Amino acid sequence: MQITQLSRKNIQALTPYQSARRLGGKGDVWLNANEYPISPDFNLSARQFNRYPEAQPQAVIEGYARYAGLSPDNVLVTRGGDESIELIIRAFCELSDSVLYCPPTYGMYSVSAETCGITLKTVPLTADFQLDLAEIERQLDGVKVVFVCSPNNPTGGLIKRSDLLKLLQITAGRAIVVVDEAYIEFCPEATMTNELANYPHLAIVRTLSKAFALAGLRCGFTLANPELIGVLQKVIAPYPLPVPVSDIAAQALQPQGLAEMRQRVADVLKNRQWLIEQLQKCSQVERVFDSEANYLLVKFKDGQKVFQALWDQGIILRNQHTALGLANCVRITIGTPEENQRVVQAISELS
Ligand SMILES: *Cc1c(COP(=O)(O)O)cnc(C)c1O
Repeated sequence: MQITQLSRKNIQALTPYQSARRLGGKGDVWLNANEYPISPDFNLSARQFNRYPEAQPQAVIEGYARYAGLSPDNVLVTRGGDESIELIIRAFCELSDSVLYCPPTYGMYSVSAETCGITLKTVPLTADFQLDLAEIERQLDGVKVVFVCSPNNPTGGLIKRSDLLKLLQITAGRAIVVVDEAYIEFCPEATMTNELANYPHLAIVRTLSKAFALAGLRCGFTLANPELIGVLQKVIAPYPLPVPVSDIAAQALQPQGLAEMRQRVADVLKNRQWLIEQLQKCSQVERVFDSEANYLLVKFKDGQKVFQALWDQGIILRNQHTALGLANCVRITIGTPEENQRVVQAISELS
């Protein structure tokens, strides 16, 4: 008997998340994972590693609560935002329940649900990448968790606040609504944190991987009301955060770290504007979609050709050709000014 055949049927059938790293490539310009292009510098202050860490390190919880304008009992710290996504599914979904999400969007909602053996329901975004609320409402039977990403990865735009509020109303008492705010630092006024007081079934996913430039740290958060946080506390691993991770996360959430993050955001917005203007001059470019995040979704006349040509030159972008409704689209992370120039140069050379 093969070991694979001993694994659960849904794991045998599972296509793992195609992370940017896993897809490989030999590049010197990495613009495929929405990382910040330059690392911040930290020194470890922790010197003791013989004891288990705090389950929910106080300095990180208090630092993030202060930053988010919430109270510490609204905050759960996790191994990246990805662990928050999985915890919510594990804690709330029976095997007979389903998870609903709206493609094209972040791939981990489906991978996490499939890993847990939970049924998926999809309600595609409308042509302008907004929620199809009427269809979501029709599909709600048996749905326990709804995932919405805003700004949406990979399309880049925000989901209308009025639609998020309607979604919260139609799901009240029935399902958890997860608003994934992985990119909210690039448009902080759009956050839903101020709605937590009104909706006990709202959970917000956050991360230090994007604007905080700490993807290598693996640190994320769930923001919710204390009752929902308490449910997740029951299923999270006993010591999720290694001491070096909480040490650096706490430093990143100090006033100095927050000021550096806000400077990074300002730089990204400036470089994004430059990149939009340059791309719009390229004959290969059909459309640059509006973005509120640190990446641009771009539709080309021949997206496959653009993606491959840049890949061959060591410029690694994220191909979206097979994502729902995104034929010939490529997602480009905003890099350093030099990296952005390389992208524009390479694209403009393709006639
Ligand atoms: C990057 C990202 C996350 C979380 O990433 P982590 O590195 O696990 O914190 C969550 N949602 C979306 C949409 C993302 O792009």
